[in-house]
Amino acid sequence: MYLILLGAPGTGKGTQANILAERFGWPHISTGDMLREAVAQGTELGKATKGYMDQGALVPDDLVVKMLVERLKQPDAAKGFVLDGYPRTLAQAAALDEALADDKKAIDIAFNIVVPDDELVRRLGGRWLCRNCGAIYHEITNPPLTPGKCGRCGGELYQRDDDKPDTVRARLEKQKPPEDLMQHYRGKAKLFEIDGSEEVDGVTAALVHGISEAPGNVWS
Ligand SMILES: [Zn+2]
Repeated sequence: MYLILLGAPGTGKGTQANILAERFGWPHISTGDMLREAVAQGTELGKATKGYMDQGALVPDDLVVKMLVERLKQPDAAKGFVLDGYPRTLAQAAALDEALADDKKAIDIAFNIVVPDDELVRRLGGRWLCRNCGAIYHEITNPPLTPGKCGRCGGELYQRDDDKPDTVRARLEKQKPPEDLMQHYRGKAKLFEIDGSEEVDGVTAALVHGISEAPGNVWS
């Protein structure tokens, strides 16, 4: 079972990728981790990657696909994998399809984890700092007892520009999976939408259910 998890930042897709990988015994392949590992190991592809990273440039698609295909050929990925952070564009999806087709393989399911924008903005933003002692609060996970006031020292709380709702919303628009990418998988009847606004366990249950219903599923 070859899975892709799509979703904006804050949808919890990395967490879910980890949970699914552990439950089914498939590797969780995050392209970010994979690139960092290749650089650390100093492989040929890793050296090429480092050149781009050192310049703060994007690593070109063909390099990422090459690395990914090598990774997917490792024995631990033979029966399945959970891909997180890739593809981000239609071109990347097409490149991945092509590379897998060379081995007579294909992506089985692309899950799109959907969380309403307002909730994502609350999750991703919502961070407040104390001007006086630097204590960090979060509106959802660690709210101050009195809004705007540090519970430790009584100092004033403020938001960095990066954490302000408008900034978060604007950034989010650019980080959501593009419509043509979703259409790519929808057109192959492989796109499953999952409600990511629930608790972690509920989202996992929906994903597991989706896997059990998937065409050609041999795992349930
Ligand atoms: Zn404080």
